[in-house]
Amino acid sequence: MPDTAEKQACDLLIEAPWVLPVAPENVALADHAVAVSEGIIVAIGPSQALKQQFAAEEHVVVTDGILTPGLINAHTHAAMSLLRGCGEDLPLQSWLNERIWPLEGKLVDSEFVRTGTALGVAEMLASGTTTFSDMYFFPEVCAEVARNAGMRVQLAFPLFDGANAWSESIDDCFSKGLELHDRYRDDPQVIVAFGPHAPYTVNRKALEKIQMLSEEINLGIHIHLHENAAEVAEARSLNGVSWVEYLADMGFLSPQLQAVHMTQLTEREIELTATNGVHVIHCPHSNLKLASGLCPTTALREAGVNLAIGTDGAACNNTLDVLQEARTASLLAKHDAGRADAGCVRDTLEMATLGGARAIGMETSLGSIEPGKRADLAVFEPTGFATLPLLDPFASLLHGAPSYRASHVWVDGRAVVRSGALTNIDTQALRRDVEQQAERVRAAL
Ligand SMILES: [Zn+2]
Repeated sequence: MPDTAEKQACDLLIEAPWVLPVAPENVALADHAVAVSEGIIVAIGPSQALKQQFAAEEHVVVTDGILTPGLINAHTHAAMSLLRGCGEDLPLQSWLNERIWPLEGKLVDSEFVRTGTALGVAEMLASGTTTFSDMYFFPEVCAEVARNAGMRVQLAFPLFDGANAWSESIDDCFSKGLELHDRYRDDPQVIVAFGPHAPYTVNRKALEKIQMLSEEINLGIHIHLHENAAEVAEARSLNGVSWVEYLADMGFLSPQLQAVHMTQLTEREIELTATNGVHVIHCPHSNLKLASGLCPTTALREAGVNLAIGTDGAACNNTLDVLQEARTASLLAKHDAGRADAGCVRDTLEMATLGGARAIGMETSLGSIEPGKRADLAVFEPTGFATLPLLDPFASLLHGAPSYRASHVWVDGRAVVRSGALTNIDTQALRRDVEQQAERVRAAL
């Protein structure tokens, strides 16, 4: 055995009884380790071999747990965590028009977004998510909160027709959003994308401008699309075609497009989605809770579409826990396809990690445990009898999700959760801020 002097130095060596790297092979590796240097994964291999190869500054030995890539929440509105429980048992259109939008009109300002985003970020980090895609007002505040917490974010800056608390007009949305792109263009922790709310809230000229700019400056586009049947029916009565067909006619469908929800899809729309390389972000809890309908994930997968998982906002979920969301995605896929082999646990874990990375254009640096990728990692520790015996780590983690907690989480190799505790967030101060904002919410109800 070589002595320490001959060993290669690294910053962090994590040993775990199980490692699920997702790629290059989506397999379970027993007694493996991961070495990290300067925020980058430098090696993955059997623990014994890596212990001999590396002298690590910090050596974490997980005695009971599963190491995975950090989860990616490909669609949320983190600040809406403050509206958790505000609009229960309502269908989408009443939920939005009668509940959420009037409340947001009264409540949303930069402090609401700061506290709400901090709450969402705390919940996501504590449940093993390392990157989230956010679409909300005051995205500059969201970027600050995420960076301070050590979390990675895709800021899909909002674009809406008309004025709102953040912007006077859609032109104002463009200029504020593009300013953010300039500010963060060299920051790997903040990825900027266009966030047109939906084709029914953004006029055609603005959509054309988004499409043109997206090609010109190579930015993703993140949009709610085909969220429910009423939305699709409205499109047909307005335009004679569905929103997917409407966008396809404009040439808006492309590999830059991240389409969120995608329920009620016809075979033709699935084909349009696949041939244009559109990414689909599945938000099963939100779809179930608002009775929006189902995203046909199995048909999309079989057509070759990349799938990712989002929690949507906490006001229609009510949590931001991607692992729980993945469990539901798996069960729902089986129900929807009428086949037990649909939504298999390996594919579902890929959706919650590498699928999300592909959707936001970061698949070369995020989403799997491979040398050369950023060290965004999570350890899930079993907490109860429901995880025993551990015969299949994929099934145990996905279907036993409620019995796991994220004990350690790293972003760029920096610990953001250590032994279950958030390292960069003052949780007492956060609770006080949340209570202060909650008083405003109660007064506005
Ligand atoms: Zn949404």
